[in-house]
Amino acid sequence: MDRWQNRVAVISGASSGIGAACARLLVAAGLQVVGLARRTDRLEQLRQSLPEEQRKRFHQHKCDVSQELQVDTAFEWIEKELGGIDVLINNAGIVLGGQLIDMPTKDINNILQTNLMGSIYCTKLAAGSMRRRQVAGHLIFVNSTAGVAGYKPDPADESLNAYTPSKFALTAVQEICRQELINQGSKIKTTSINPGWVATEIVPDETKAKLGEVILQADDVAQAVLYALSTPPHTQVEQITLRAVGEY
Ligand code: NDP
Repeated sequence: MDRWQNRVAVISGASSGIGAACARLLVAAGLQVVGLARRTDRLEQLRQSLPEEQRKRFHQHKCDVSQELQVDTAFEWIEKELGGIDVLINNAGIVLGGQLIDMPTKDINNILQTNLMGSIYCTKLAAGSMRRRQVAGHLIFVNSTAGVAGYKPDPADESLNAYTPSKFALTAVQEICRQELINQGSKIKTTSINPGWVATEIVPDETKAKLGEVILQADDVAQAVLYALSTPPHTQVEQITLRAVGEY
């Protein structure tokens, strides 16, 4: 991880769960981390919970990633304050349950705007920053097993019906970015991390109760992110699929 010392990593959705776990690990590994989220009180709690000597490496900015203007403002602030972006972790995401066919269109739009368009807005600006500064940066997508297989672990469970297309599209975004960057002669890496169920706020208590101990922890996913970042410059981890042992 030496080459990332004091480099700037932007994490969307850093106020809880996987994003917060990534922020903790990357700050501890010596990166400057910018956490984006809507709940600034939770970002501040995260900052306060860091060991004192690490706190100065955690920066926060209020940002609703579904709103392009807010993403523009946040990234302009990062460029000005920290000089550019070396790593982007597209992690912000929401789930709204129910059948896709019967779901109000505004809810489907909300999922797509957050999970898909939010990641695209951040990716465009981060890739722009990396290319301008000729940095071999890294674009990471916190996707999902649902984004790879489009599967439903339990046919009776409709919690991921509208979420799944948003994550499936994210798989395509990563692959297209990978190809475009090669065509441009860029050394920027792209990685998708595809977790199964993780014990975070996004998962309803009822589901957690059903899964029992067969569930990942946020830190397990953060470790996979760290691994993807730590491979040598000439290798690219493209996909990591991570499930709790015993998850169907
Ligand atoms: P959490 O609910 O704990 O975290 C979601 C994060 O996304 C929060 O920090 C939230 O911050 C942020 N977020 C949501 N909407 C927006 C928005 N419009 N703008 C900015 N930030 C937003 O759940 P997880 O940590 O589990 O989720 C992180 C990612 O992991 C998601 O993309 C999710 O799809 C993915 N994932 C999760 C799995 C699981 O089982 N938990 C499995 C597979 C993938 P705030 O509300 O403060 O804005």
